[in-house]
Amino acid sequence: MISLAAIYDGAKRLRCTVPAICLAVTVGASASEPPVFRIAGAGQPPEQVIVAEGASEATRAAAQTLADYLGRIASTRFQVTAGDGRDGIAVGLASDFPALDLAKEFDADGPARREQYLLRSHRRGLCAVAATETGVTHAVWDLLYRLGHRQFFPGEVWEVVPRRKDLCIAVDANERPDYAYRRIWYGYGTWDYNAEPLAEWGRRNRAPGAFVLNTGHAYDGIIRRHKPEFDKHPEYYGLLDGERKSSKICIANPAVRELVVRYALDFFKRSPSADSVSVDPSDGGGWCECAECAALGTPSDRALTLANDVSEALEAGLPGKYVAMYAYSHHSPPPSIRARPRVIISVATAFLKGGRTVEENIEGWKRQGVRRFGIREYYSVLPWDHDLPGQARGSNLAYLARTIPEFHRMGARFMSAESSDNWGPNGLGYYIASRILWDVGEAERIDDLKADFLAKAFGPARTPVGRFYDLLDGSRAVLLSRHLLGRMYRCLRDAWRLAESDPIRARIDHLVLYTRYVELYRAYSRASGDERQAAFEQLIRHVYRMRRTMMVHAKGIYRTYAERDKRVSIPEEARWNRPEAKNPWKNGQPWTRAELGGFVSRGVAANPVITFQPAAYSRDLVPAGPLSLPDLPPLEAAARGRGLRTFYTWVKRAPAAIALQVTGGLIAHYRDRGPAKLTLYAVTDGDEQKVAYAEVAPDGVQRAVTLRSAHPGLHKLTVSDGMDCTEVLWPAGTPCTVESSLESVPRQSGRTSAYFYVPRGTKVVGGYAEAGGGAMFGPDGRKVLNLPRGEYFEVPVGQGRDGRLWSVRASPGAVRLMTVPPYLAPGPNALLLPRDVVRADAPAGR
Ligand SMILES: [Zn+2]
Repeated sequence: MISLAAIYDGAKRLRCTVPAICLAVTVGASASEPPVFRIAGAGQPPEQVIVAEGASEATRAAAQTLADYLGRIASTRFQVTAGDGRDGIAVGLASDFPALDLAKEFDADGPARREQYLLRSHRRGLCAVAATETGVTHAVWDLLYRLGHRQFFPGEVWEVVPRRKDLCIAVDANERPDYAYRRIWYGYGTWDYNAEPLAEWGRRNRAPGAFVLNTGHAYDGIIRRHKPEFDKHPEYYGLLDGERKSSKICIANPAVRELVVRYALDFFKRSPSADSVSVDPSDGGGWCECAECAALGTPSDRALTLANDVSEALEAGLPGKYVAMYAYSHHSPPPSIRARPRVIISVATAFLKGGRTVEENIEGWKRQGVRRFGIREYYSVLPWDHDLPGQARGSNLAYLARTIPEFHRMGARFMSAESSDNWGPNGLGYYIASRILWDVGEAERIDDLKADFLAKAFGPARTPVGRFYDLLDGSRAVLLSRHLLGRMYRCLRDAWRLAESDPIRARIDHLVLYTRYVELYRAYSRASGDERQAAFEQLIRHVYRMRRTMMVHAKGIYRTYAERDKRVSIPEEARWNRPEAKNPWKNGQPWTRAELGGFVSRGVAANPVITFQPAAYSRDLVPAGPLSLPDLPPLEAAARGRGLRTFYTWVKRAPAAIALQVTGGLIAHYRDRGPAKLTLYAVTDGDEQKVAYAEVAPDGVQRAVTLRSAHPGLHKLTVSDGMDCTEVLWPAGTPCTVESSLESVPRQSGRTSAYFYVPRGTKVVGGYAEAGGGAMFGPDGRKVLNLPRGEYFEVPVGQGRDGRLWSVRASPGAVRLMTVPPYLAPGPNALLLPRDVVRADAPAGR
């Protein structure tokens, strides 16, 4: 009986590596430290790579790979020879080397065993030994990793093979993965050139794992496979608008359930190596409208009812096999029935219904007895992030470091991460994710992993390239602009000057081509009319020609951009799948140094960088009253917004009641995502205490909401909806301020106008405007700036115009303020400002 228990017991990983400091051999080594073994150097002949006499082809291939790489690293030749493993570098299964007596160190069974391996140095040699051939391959690549080899991104350019004459290692590690399935895959698929590099990147980074988790949409496939039966029994289909036509099959029908159980058992006959069969519902809505299905409960209840039937059959007849489905879309909310033991649930991190967080969904399914979890992630989705810097979760190193261990703590053991072939913006994230998925402890070493990447891939150019990667890190707001492009190009120009070798230059070249993509994308996205088509063609030509760098997802971009943007088109003869020889948009020529140099020099010239330094302001806010600001007429602030919004208000006398008019569900299409949630916090010395909570139904009806607080002073109100848009109307005269800074913007819908305060002594009002349109006005009511579109701005303050109120008017997007307090309010009486700003600028005696 195989069980998953072994990967659920959190077994401690033995880990220890001393890198090749051969001098440390005898000094201060305690008994528990592994001995240092010299692989090559010090005038000795190199050690042999040893396989067993009867070793398998796969093991011999792994041993040969190791010998080849050791030879390249140490500039010598390593032989693969037969032996019992007691001397030299033993590569193989534990059963290959009975003399080493290592079999007892591996798990008896379970998925972890399929990838488990041992690396151990001893006086006479080194073992790279595993329980399976997959484990042997992992052992070889991990050994090379510990000796300095890296395959950071797919492709030859991103492989780093160190050169060292003297090669030593002290290691004692019994490795097994924290996630049994670790798959980073391309949402728009692979093209002819990138499938093998991706597979090779996976092998060299110990991915995607040996557990075969089938969990994708399955009902359509089940119908296709049993088409004659469905033809004979139209009542098997789901009932939709009075017709039996939906692929959401009629789960209440016992014959349908019996059919799906047969399908599942047959699936394992056809695919004996699979670990799970998927019975995930087909995509989209259309759940059966018959009375019997309604009696079964929610879509989650119905889908789980079916999965439970399959689980029951597997429990009876197929040990070690599982039935899997997502918690996604209509069937993402936790069910009201218990799950049987063989059900694996993969919780999606997007497309959730019911207004719960991912974590709440996991906890809810756990409460119904689900013990095994996967995560259906979205590290990059082309229509969401367009391969731009800092836009995808895959670029957000803080998100990866937080969520992978957190999901693991909650019980997740399988990760399926939709991604893109876009190693330009997200490569470092994908690489780091692969490290954390194997060992969640790596999340605490993000800075080390990043430093290692910069040092090994860029050597003497690592400082400017490090600045470049800081610009791409989605942990912070990355604002697409000429300033961003200017800084990217300047970093790469500086990096080129410091690069000392062709491999380092080649990597920087890839980043140059990526930066040029971002520049062309920005030009295309801002252009209109004939210029838009021309910019689009230029973009596609560039993307195709740079495709082999794998910096951007050429196939997805070439195939889908024109489908999504009706203002541009691709002529028939230039279609994405028309061969290069007959396709006028496809040019397979390598880039010349002159072309690359031109991108950088023109990029630097065309993209000036801003000169102001952003200033930091506290959120310890107080009324602006002591500043004696003039009583200007109120401006019309946008009352509607989507997602999570935050307002600050002030309670002068407690207890107080804040009376709001709130309308939820303004976008009818999204009304299935739960109510609008309003939470009021009293803020004292930075500590937030929840004092009131209310929900408003997402039905488009305006309701009065009264939130009460017994505390005087600063309060914070959060309004959170399922992106279905909520309107919040404040009573006139109530303090109501929003933050609009580098870190945080008010997620308003529609145009907004508001005042902000320019403290005394300010020289420049600097910031970033998201959407073009609207304007900024000085204290005298004169326009000082037409707000740019997706661009930084800097406005000189001028004599006598500081210590006063400025405003933005009719701005369709967020205006991030970076050199003045980033707080906006519809009138002087509604404005809260940082306490220290008010104290410093208030007239004496106030
Ligand atoms: Zn039904």
